[in-house]
Amino acid sequence: MQIIYGFILAIIIAVLAYSAHSLNKSGAFAAAFVGTIIFGIGGWQWAILLLTFFITSSGLSRAFKKRKAGLSEKFSKGHERDAGQVFGNGGLATLFAALHALYPASIIPWVGFAASLAAVNADTWATELGVLNPTPPRMITDLRKQVEKGTSGGISLWGTGAALLGSSLVALPAALFTDYWLLFPLVTFAGLAGSFFDSLLGATVQAMYYCPTDKKETEKHPLHTCGTETVHIRGWKWLDNDWVNFACGAFGVVVALLFI
Ligand SMILES: [Zn+2]
Repeated sequence: MQIIYGFILAIIIAVLAYSAHSLNKSGAFAAAFVGTIIFGIGGWQWAILLLTFFITSSGLSRAFKKRKAGLSEKFSKGHERDAGQVFGNGGLATLFAALHALYPASIIPWVGFAASLAAVNADTWATELGVLNPTPPRMITDLRKQVEKGTSGGISLWGTGAALLGSSLVALPAALFTDYWLLFPLVTFAGLAGSFFDSLLGATVQAMYYCPTDKKETEKHPLHTCGTETVHIRGWKWLDNDWVNFACGAFGVVVALLFI
């Protein structure tokens, strides 16, 4: 029965997000699938964690539009998320919900679920709020090197603070729904670690392109926002932003499960 309620709730949210332009068509189908599994198998506690991520990250993508103007061309996609982004951020969480159905007595699926969402939430918060940092970010692989705002691999005080907040916002209910208060610091730390891993990949092996018209580095491929074809300059071509988000969540899970 719960799976039917999960399906209904997931459809309602996917339709709302689609009409609010937070998801495009493929993203709405993917979100309906992810939501059905997570709400349907996990129930309301799992739903609260997923919605904390989904609502705050969609909201932050819209906030501070003026401050972020001109930066969006650096990122591979606009704020309308597609199926790749939904699975990049929520695929692991869906997998842990399925594991919970197989091992309902184990806490491991819950910790993995919470850690993966804490990591992708930390990363989204850092990306969306890091641009408010008063000074340019520094490269995670070389802290002496200042880079342009929005550059993959750039970190800042504001971004790190935002990551910590985003992570703890998921970790708090994750701990409250169990008898283990230690899950709060553990999941918060795991989420923060995941978002640093995301920056590290962005600075090293993530696929990066260059727009010859604007003379700018970008994640966009094959076409830049201006319509020009972008040129591959570094990183592994297959490692796009969706896979980096997936790796961010996976790293958070590994860190959390190592400590538990
Ligand atoms: Zn361009």
